[in-house]
Amino acid sequence: MAYPLVQINLKKIKHNTKTLVALCHEHGIKVAGVTKVFCAIPEITHAMIEGGISSIADSRIENLMHYKDNPLPKILLRLPMICESQAVVEYADISLNSEIETIRALGKAATSKGIIHKIILMVDLGDLREGIWDEEELYDVVEETLTIEGVKLIGIGTNLTCYGGVIPNEYNLGKLVLIKETIEDKYNISLDIVSGGNSSSLFLVEIGLMPTGINQLRLGESIVLGRETAFGNRIKNTYDDAFLLTSEIIELKDKPSIPVGEIGMDAFGNTPKFEDIGIRKRAICAIGKQDVDIHDVSLVDKDIKIMGGSSDHIILDITDSPNDYHVGDTITFKLNYGGVLRITTSPYVKKVFIG
Ligand SMILES: *Cc1c(COP(=O)(O)O)cnc(C)c1O
Repeated sequence: MAYPLVQINLKKIKHNTKTLVALCHEHGIKVAGVTKVFCAIPEITHAMIEGGISSIADSRIENLMHYKDNPLPKILLRLPMICESQAVVEYADISLNSEIETIRALGKAATSKGIIHKIILMVDLGDLREGIWDEEELYDVVEETLTIEGVKLIGIGTNLTCYGGVIPNEYNLGKLVLIKETIEDKYNISLDIVSGGNSSSLFLVEIGLMPTGINQLRLGESIVLGRETAFGNRIKNTYDDAFLLTSEIIELKDKPSIPVGEIGMDAFGNTPKFEDIGIRKRAICAIGKQDVDIHDVSLVDKDIKIMGGSSDHIILDITDSPNDYHVGDTITFKLNYGGVLRITTSPYVKKVFIG
């Protein structure tokens, strides 16, 4: 085996997807499977598709390009850049939007290719990332969008718990449903999609408080890590270890717990602080900040402590572990969202699929 590697259990991804798709379907909600956290690696996306997602969603058009021939609808999650309009209408069937200028550009691009690009308008319900905040502006944008050639307004959506940490509830998501009904009445149209957020909206489904009318959720982290993201709770009947990072021990020595000499700055310009706890058995693993942040990993062997890291190393205190480690042995880590994101992006980490 060559390390570092991330082992990705496709059966667990498929199982998690099935669990969430079934839960959402019970409440009339379709799942857009979000692939950005794992760079849309095709094997993993495929496991999500087998698990029953209704569409493929990603924030980057480069990731959606892999799925040009896939029959599922592709949704671009990040508001499009005007400079990428041509690629957006080519590789995404649907995009989330909040700017009329961008919608005009998408309309032009779609018209030049003789296609219709679908638009979901984003409404900001208080989290203050993307979305139209002002209600007047919202209706102005709807009105103009309905006149633009090459685009079709198919729904509205929102995103919560990303910038502002705002928790979804019956009131803010209920308001989204009301806005949808107002648009339908005012313009005599029907909107197919009310997209009620990301993995932070799932708990409302679990406790039966998701407002009727919300019919899509865009789920990434909950599928990948079995965790809802409003409160960070584990989701029943899901796995949290579909991704496991393994790295090799390249040095194993007893050393003092305080560096010897005058202390200046570490490799990242911080002045480190140390506590004297005597001589400790320290292992250095061949993986570092270039691949993953030490705050985004946790040890499978609970008796190991992380001492720190640098660009290419993670330093561990293995003194209290009952396991007898040697140079050349491996250490396995679980990953959080940021960990999965960076590990799957790192070209230095081999991806190994099981299941
Ligand atoms: C990333 C993203 C999601 C998915 O978020 P998770 O917390 O991973 O479920 C949904 N919608 C938008 C707009 C996103 O950018």
